[in-house]
Amino acid sequence: MRKSQILILFPILFFLSDCIKSKANSGVSDNVMTLLLVNSILNSNNGSCVKTESIQSNTIGWWYPFGNLYYYTEIHPVTLDRKRPMVQVVVEHPDTFYGGLFPLWYSDRNNFNTSFINRDLASFIGINTHISMLPYAKDTSYATDPAVSILNTGDSSQPLGVEFNFTYPFNVKTTLIHSCRELDNDESNFQTADALSPMSGLYHTWAKEKILDVNLIFVNGSNGQAYPIQTEQAIEVALEKWRENFSQSSVKIKLNVSVTSANLIDYDLIYNLGTETAYPGTLGGLFKTTSFIGKQNALNVFIVREELQYGGVLGVSGGIPGPATLLGTKQSGIAVFVDSHRLYSNSGEVLTYDEQLLLGETLSHETGHFLGLWHVTESSGDYGNLWDRDPLRDTPTCHISNDTNLNGYIELNECLGGSGTNSGGRNMMFWTGAVGFTQGDITAEQGWILRLNPLVY
Ligand SMILES: [Zn+2]
Repeated sequence: MRKSQILILFPILFFLSDCIKSKANSGVSDNVMTLLLVNSILNSNNGSCVKTESIQSNTIGWWYPFGNLYYYTEIHPVTLDRKRPMVQVVVEHPDTFYGGLFPLWYSDRNNFNTSFINRDLASFIGINTHISMLPYAKDTSYATDPAVSILNTGDSSQPLGVEFNFTYPFNVKTTLIHSCRELDNDESNFQTADALSPMSGLYHTWAKEKILDVNLIFVNGSNGQAYPIQTEQAIEVALEKWRENFSQSSVKIKLNVSVTSANLIDYDLIYNLGTETAYPGTLGGLFKTTSFIGKQNALNVFIVREELQYGGVLGVSGGIPGPATLLGTKQSGIAVFVDSHRLYSNSGEVLTYDEQLLLGETLSHETGHFLGLWHVTESSGDYGNLWDRDPLRDTPTCHISNDTNLNGYIELNECLGGSGTNSGGRNMMFWTGAVGFTQGDITAEQGWILRLNPLVY
């Protein structure tokens, strides 16, 4: 019953301890990056407000971060302010092409010494595809190495920048996705605080309700159907749980759900939960080849009967975050697996009430990932490293000392204490869940990140 499988997406993990960058002159090119296209969806009242830029990135040098050769581009300017409060960066080889790539952020684009390791880069370097975002937290100094402050709630932007790095500098596609919804006053003035208990941060109330459009897709194929009845009513208990989680005062996002079915011959069963390739039967392939059924301004959710790589994985998100409004990438969506939610029912039957509640929690959890939330604490416990926990101050963590059975994992019953360092088991973003156990806690800072996502309006 593990929800933790997002890390499977990135099979090669580089834990970074040193981000000092010494530049070597390669003489590859002195080209600057050219802005290719600005594509805006401006619809402030009736939909999300998103600006997308495709950037042509020419490499200007190379270096050896983490023991490998990477080519790097010039630093592209990034604006973050109250009217553009969040940005995502997508770096990808559009085709199947094995190469590492990652974005590197700068708090001052005019100063090479201000690069920092963002929360995503602390955990992994993407293979063929990587997404990062700013900010991952209200108090960004808590979330990066070295600690830097990113202000995104005022009227003017810092001179931020982002540079792209790849092992193979061919056919790389880089995209910037900006939210352009102006922050409400209470979002702009929001302050976070350290978690003293699992209840810290839960009693916040946002002034205005926001909306997230959701496109639910039942996936059918020659191996059968995802679910016997493919309507909203047939999974009503799950949808109600999901809506209830997101309607809490600390989040206050209304889910606008529509349901459809699709015949996807290679994807009615998923054999590989990786997103680095787009081969038939892989998660990356499912997301990449289904833009015809996806909705651009919605969260696209694929309901699949079963994954066969591990067996028992409840759900998976294409990324932390997933690419908002960008269809047809290997990370464009979330998937949930119906049969992993069964305890009492048989494959091919409608899920029981309790099983549907768990499905509702899985949908909530994967939505959290897609919009930019990390696990409150990763399965191996909090040792105090950036990559052990989420980048938020007001969420509790679960220190490794709570691993009382010494199996190397902090399990649900080991993280139900009363302090800010031995709990989190009740949080929506705990790494594992179980039938009959409710995990609906969402803190104000988690809600703040969810509300700032470009898809939310
Ligand atoms: Zn997860």
